[in-house]
Amino acid sequence: MSIESIMEGVDEQMGKPMSRRGYLGGSSLGKECPRQLWLDWRWCNAPLADARLARIFALGHQLEDNIAEFIRKSPKVRLITHERGEQIGGSFFGGHLRYHIDGLLTGADGKTYLWECKTANNRRFNRLNKLGTQAREAGETKNLAYSEWDETYSMQVHFYGGALKEQYPEENIHGAYITVYDKNTSAIYSEQMDLDEIIYNQLKDKAWWLLNLKEPPQAAYSKSAFQVKNFMDDEERGIYLGELTPLNPLCRTCKFSRPNLSDKQKRGQWGCTRTKTIINHKQQLKGCLDHEWIPGLVPAKHLGNNKYEKNDVVFYNVGASNPMTEEHSYTSSEIAYLCRNDFNFEDNDKITDARKLFDVKQQLEVTKNDNNNED
Ligand code: SF4
Repeated sequence: MSIESIMEGVDEQMGKPMSRRGYLGGSSLGKECPRQLWLDWRWCNAPLADARLARIFALGHQLEDNIAEFIRKSPKVRLITHERGEQIGGSFFGGHLRYHIDGLLTGADGKTYLWECKTANNRRFNRLNKLGTQAREAGETKNLAYSEWDETYSMQVHFYGGALKEQYPEENIHGAYITVYDKNTSAIYSEQMDLDEIIYNQLKDKAWWLLNLKEPPQAAYSKSAFQVKNFMDDEERGIYLGELTPLNPLCRTCKFSRPNLSDKQKRGQWGCTRTKTIINHKQQLKGCLDHEWIPGLVPAKHLGNNKYEKNDVVFYNVGASNPMTEEHSYTSSEIAYLCRNDFNFEDNDKITDARKLFDVKQQLEVTKNDNNNED
């Protein structure tokens, strides 16, 4: 490898798709749009595959470790970030809602706090610092600026704190201690926050509602919102706005899949109501040929069961092993193709005709072989 191509190699390695998160994360519950949360949890979007983003995450983790080390140098302060090599956290609803905290900090006053650590660029950091300074000058000593600075981050703190209080009452959590690190100047902002039990309960209720939804919820953002225009690529935007199905038919987008929300061992299990089996993470990533879209993910009028209408054409979503008796019967992959091609049924029928011919030939082949085996 030449010297010039080293970074290309780095990008290639780091730009590989990140692994799919199996659960709904407590850190994201404060996000405004429930549709985004549901689509992510149901793996409707492609996994992140961006070398620069991967480096941002990696740097964030390294800085968090550094800040933990700095805090541990403070006299009479105890900070625990891991237990038995694992991040501290917990789960609810059969393991489908999970959270992992940055740490538990016991101060010189002997009280224990949730430790939450973030990093920010200089522009964002300066805004937080300014708000915090104003609050201090007004005589405040806690709940200074973090909630105003970033509502989603603040909700995360209330969720983590409430979850710890519920699941680890022996820790007697007194509140939260926030640190934010300026990635440009290495300045550190800190603030003490009280925990709000009402917000915690609301967020937990929201998670329960989301996990029970069999169809995607309404979008909170319109087509022209900056969150949609600036922060989604074409595929994501299409799926979010209900103009495209997800690209690949995986179990979590199939109408036969169900999360087991009452598993006492909290394994985050999924089952298939068609095969009546548990489907593990690996199988969920593959799906199967009998996949049928969750109707709300198909950009067409749903006429009940597996029947849809688009551009005055009635069509059916069928598994590949189903007999395709109805005209305009399509597998989930074919519907994904169709909606990316203006629902041009005429063109697509050329493809499905070829598939049907192949299916018939294959079936004849199987029958012939079966007959031979019987001889
Ligand atoms: S039918 Fe196939 S794709 Fe659908 S949930 Fe069952 S195993 Fe997964």
